[in-house]
Amino acid sequence: MTHPTYTRLEQELAAMHTAGLYKTERPIVSAQSAQIQVDKAGTHTPVLNFCANNYLGLADHPEIIAAAKAAMDTYGYGMASVRFICGTLDLHRQLEMAIAKFTGHADSILFAACFDANGGVFEPLLTAEDAIVSDSLNHASIIDGIRLCKAKRFRFANNDMADLEAQLKAAQATNPRTIVIATDGVFSMDGYIANLPEIRRLADAYGALIMVDDCHSTGILGPTGNGTGPHHGVHVDILTSTLGKSLGGAAGGFVAASQPVIDMLRQRARPYLFSNTLPPAIAGGALKAIELTVNGAELRAKLQRNQAHFRSGLTAAGFDLLPGDHPIIPVMLYDAPLAQALANRLYELGVYVSGFFYPVVPKGQARIRTQMSAAHTPEQLDTAIAAFTKAGHELGILA
Ligand SMILES: *Cc1c(COP(=O)(O)O)cnc(C)c1O
Repeated sequence: MTHPTYTRLEQELAAMHTAGLYKTERPIVSAQSAQIQVDKAGTHTPVLNFCANNYLGLADHPEIIAAAKAAMDTYGYGMASVRFICGTLDLHRQLEMAIAKFTGHADSILFAACFDANGGVFEPLLTAEDAIVSDSLNHASIIDGIRLCKAKRFRFANNDMADLEAQLKAAQATNPRTIVIATDGVFSMDGYIANLPEIRRLADAYGALIMVDDCHSTGILGPTGNGTGPHHGVHVDILTSTLGKSLGGAAGGFVAASQPVIDMLRQRARPYLFSNTLPPAIAGGALKAIELTVNGAELRAKLQRNQAHFRSGLTAAGFDLLPGDHPIIPVMLYDAPLAQALANRLYELGVYVSGFFYPVVPKGQARIRTQMSAAHTPEQLDTAIAAFTKAGHELGILA
C-alpha cells in the first residue's frame, strides 16, 4: 500500500503543475557559454543562452581550464577531508589570500558554496545578545543563516532606507552588543544595487557592522570587479560571495572580513568545520579566474555595452523592463503561466531564458530574468531581441 505521505506529495506536485509553478530542468550537452548545445528530443541543438550567471564569460575560459587541470595533476582529484583535519592545501591558502587582496579585506575563508558561507557566517559571531537587521529581499541563504543564529531579527523593506533606520532604532532599543545590517549587494531577481552609501551612514550612526552578499556583483561592479562596496567607495565589514558566478562559475563560496572575524569562522562555522574542502581543481581554477577578473576591464566594458544594447532593443520592442544598470535585465510578465509560455516559445526559437515566479519572486511579479554576458556578440543580442519580439506578438504581450 502507498504511504499517505507519497499521495499527499503527488497532490501537491500536481497543484504546482496546474498553477504553472512547476520547474523543469533542461539538459545542456556542451560547455556553459553564450551559445550552448541542448538536447531537444534527442537532437543536439544550439541555443543562445541568456540565463547563466556567466557574466564575464569565464565558464569555459581555456586558461582557467588549464589552471584547473594543472592543479589536478599536482594535487589529485579530491582531498577526502575537511580543512582542519587534513584538507588544507597551500593552494587553498593562496586562494584565500588572493580573495582577501582582491576584495580589500585582511583575510578570507573558503566554503563549499556561498550558500554555506551565508549559512555559517552569523552563528559563530552573534548570540541572543546581538541583533541582525536584514533586507526583506535578501537571498534565501542569508535568511537561513540568520535563522540558524540566535540574534534578534529585524527586517526592513527592500532598499528602503527610512525603514532601515526605523528597524535600527527598534534593534537599538533592545540594547544589543552588536548590530549587523545584512544585505545583498545586488538583488538577484531585480538587478537592483544596494544603497551602500546610505547603509554605511546609518550603520555608523548606530554603531552597526555591514554584511554584504556580493554574489551578483563580484566580477561586475567596482574598479576591478571587486564588488558593490568598491563600486560605491564604501567599506563593507563582512563580505560573502561565490566562485560559482562571474569567477569561473564552478562552485565554492567565501567570506572576506577582518582577521578576528575570519579566525572565529575558521574555529566555529559549522559548514566549514563539518563539510569537505574545496577540490584542488576548483581552487586552482579560481585563482586564475580572479587574475582574469582583476585584469578584466575589457570584459566589463563589453558586458556594459551588451546590457545597454539589449535593454534598448527590448524597450524599443515594447517590453516592460525593470529599470537598472546591471547585466540582470528582468522582463516583467506578472503572470506565471505567461512567463512560462514566453520562455517555452523562446526556447523553440533558439533563445534560452528562464521564467521566475512564486516562490522565487512575490506572487503577481512573474518575470523572465535575462542575464547578459561579456561572451555575447551584438549579433547574438539582435537575434534574441528579434525572437522576443516575435514571441511577444504571438502571445499577445506586445500590441
Ligand atoms: C547564487 C547566490 C548564492 C549562492 O551561491 P552558491 O555559491 O551557488 O551557493 C548566495 N547569495 C546570492 C545573492 C546568490 O545570488
